[in-house]
Amino acid sequence: MPKKFIPYSTQLIDSDDIKAVVATLKSDFLTQGPKVNEFERKIAEYCGTKYAVAFNSGTSALHGACFAAGISNGDEVITSPITFVASSNCVLYCGGKPVFADIDPETALISIKNLKDKITPKTKAIIPVDYSGHPCDMDEINKIAKENNLIVIEDAAHSIGALYKGKKVGTLADMTMLSFHAVKQITTGEGGIILTDNKAYFDKLVKFRTHGITREIKDVDPWYYEMQTLGFNYRITDFQCALGITQLKKLDKFIKIRRKIAFVYNKAFANIKEITCPPEIKNVISSYHLYPIRLHESLVDKKRQIFDELRSLGVGVNVHYIPVPLQPYYQEMFGYQKGDFPAAEAFYESEISLPIHQKMTNADIQYVIRSVKSVIKAQSGR
Ligand SMILES: *Cc1c(COP(=O)(O)O)cnc(C)c1O
Repeated sequence: MPKKFIPYSTQLIDSDDIKAVVATLKSDFLTQGPKVNEFERKIAEYCGTKYAVAFNSGTSALHGACFAAGISNGDEVITSPITFVASSNCVLYCGGKPVFADIDPETALISIKNLKDKITPKTKAIIPVDYSGHPCDMDEINKIAKENNLIVIEDAAHSIGALYKGKKVGTLADMTMLSFHAVKQITTGEGGIILTDNKAYFDKLVKFRTHGITREIKDVDPWYYEMQTLGFNYRITDFQCALGITQLKKLDKFIKIRRKIAFVYNKAFANIKEITCPPEIKNVISSYHLYPIRLHESLVDKKRQIFDELRSLGVGVNVHYIPVPLQPYYQEMFGYQKGDFPAAEAFYESEISLPIHQKMTNADIQYVIRSVKSVIKAQSGR
């Protein structure tokens, strides 16, 4: 076994974080207290939106967004096949039908052309996914949405703090979801949030998170509350939000480290013809949740060996993602088959995610580079 294992991503928790969580554990409120609101306010302020509603996961936040968007039986929602299953499961939770538009093979983001082709009279919303931390072409997506009267819910689980044409993620869609799972840039353990400038969405999200119940009714008895829609218990705790608040203070530093690692990798791998580094996309500043490399055609058959060898060297590579429509559940439900999403499938077959996170030392970065170079060299018979 190697003496060290460098995961593809991980959290960085320091004494400030621990102090804040412990203080909240000793306070009067473990849940439904003041930290939730403080965290929401601070994230909204950082991202530049009016409203933020925190949830106990990014997945439940997406469910809330689909509910607020009014997705229901028969509605179609278009998303990308190269994503985590949560991006489309949220549509299923509301009775809608997820429709997948194949990716642009250069960027691995939803292809604008394919997106246009998938729009039908039943389409109600688009869920673009900012794969790896690069925001999608949101001007184009918003234009299509406007022309077709669609709601845009940006899956920004990878892209907190990223910029598109100088604008922060959070301000680019009708609703934007951020995830605070431990592998994401900042964490609350599990957690997520919806950002929006729309008061009607905000009101629906707040109710949905807590059983569909509201107490904001005029001229009633003080104990009175009303369940007005069917919601869930999707609340996040105060000690999680206390962690989120201290993590947020470090977000810019974490992104800076991730961007530096990407820059060093880009340079180190520039003349290795067997691998392609993630693209630098025009008008976009990525916050690099992932660093996905692609193997040259000649090495695609050796992906398994390359993956295994890197893992055995302690390089915690991973693969993002198995195209969602090819998951057995989706194949059975909707009849999707191999070959339906050629760009996504080719991407999946060649992709490997290298470690990129705020805990990596310079020695770790150099170790990953050396390991990748030597494994690629051996496998390509150079
Ligand atoms: C992490 C993630 C989510 C949300 O996941 P949670 O683990 O529920 O916070 C959604 N979409 C993508 C693309 C993700 O990576």
